[in-house]
Amino acid sequence: MLRRPGSGTRSSIAQPALLGKLNAYQVLRVLQPGQELSRAEIARSSGISAPTVSRAVESLLQAGLLEEIDAREAVPGRPARKLRLARVSAQVVGVVIDAEECTVSVAGLDGRATSNSVIHFATPTKYDELIAACADAVSRCTGDTGISTLGVGISVPGLIDARNNLSILSPNVPQTNGHSPAADLGAVLPFPCVMIHETQGLCLAESRYGAARGREDFALLDISTGIGLSVMDGGRILSGHSGLAGEIGHITVDPDGRQCGCGNRGCLETVASDTAMARQVSTKLNCHVTIEQVLAMARSGEYWPDDELAGLLDYLAIGVAAIVNLFNPGAIFIYGRLFELSDHIFNDLIERVRKRTLPPSFADCEIVRAQANKLQAAHAGIIEHLVDGIAPSLSTMSSGGTPKERKSHH
Ligand SMILES: [Zn+2]
Repeated sequence: MLRRPGSGTRSSIAQPALLGKLNAYQVLRVLQPGQELSRAEIARSSGISAPTVSRAVESLLQAGLLEEIDAREAVPGRPARKLRLARVSAQVVGVVIDAEECTVSVAGLDGRATSNSVIHFATPTKYDELIAACADAVSRCTGDTGISTLGVGISVPGLIDARNNLSILSPNVPQTNGHSPAADLGAVLPFPCVMIHETQGLCLAESRYGAARGREDFALLDISTGIGLSVMDGGRILSGHSGLAGEIGHITVDPDGRQCGCGNRGCLETVASDTAMARQVSTKLNCHVTIEQVLAMARSGEYWPDDELAGLLDYLAIGVAAIVNLFNPGAIFIYGRLFELSDHIFNDLIERVRKRTLPPSFADCEIVRAQANKLQAAHAGIIEHLVDGIAPSLSTMSSGGTPKERKSHH
């Protein structure tokens, strides 16, 4: 169980709680993934005094978020022991619930996978079976490793009511509607479990581990299963009144179009997502194919989806142009499989976006492919939640209620 600074009996953390949290947060931010620093180096990088850094490090070691590297690994002649984000002593689990397939894997607190084993299984259509399959996969990932598991992040593609910890509307995984995978997994697993809106998770992962490192104003557009948007504004994810912002996939682009999973017609995600591409190719070939199969057929020369691409990119450009005009992001990172067809496709999209965007806004925005993936998104979500426990007022995930409200169980 995560122990919070101030809740323990140690006199070293008797300083005012908020100040202690701010310092701990600063230490965590200085220790980027992959970095190993001594207390003195952390003090120099953060501008915090050495005794204060030591206190913050103690509370983070207690919480399991940091680990000291064995003296044998330290540079000879330098007695100071190095610290890093925990990856040998502690781990987190990421669960990605997606329309066709679920994936489960473990990572260190630096967000890097700690084992090559990723468990995949077809997404059960019944909710109870989905929870049982996820619980089983998490148990297999965490059993007998001797490593302390600090929590489980569950990425869900749909609207999440963070205050009540519910998946309220998922057009692509409707079996989760009205349920709380976090509470239900938390009831059968001995770890804190939290839900993460899939696109917000991707946005966090891009910012921590991907191409958006160091950026405070950018957008992440996920066109994989449905279409979701997450906007990082001044280092915080734009959440809206109740955490439901960013559903650009459900703006109407074709008033008489195809029925969407949300119940409306002609939503952007029905014509401009990986799923839309797979469905259009399925119709053309008169058999069900997934986006992976479309990619494989294109690679082998069996089928190239020329007609499908042209229409899809036009609609997608309308969506991207809307994001550029509305939010003035410094960059848009786009996550989607269909760009794997060829590099030319992404450049084609950018050219179409240019034609539909106000020139000053377009000139100010880089449009690039995202680097982070959905597993990293689930890991980033639980790591952010754990960091949130240290510094709740500063986290970018504090959009939906306080950490206490979001917590699934104790
Ligand atoms: Zn819709």
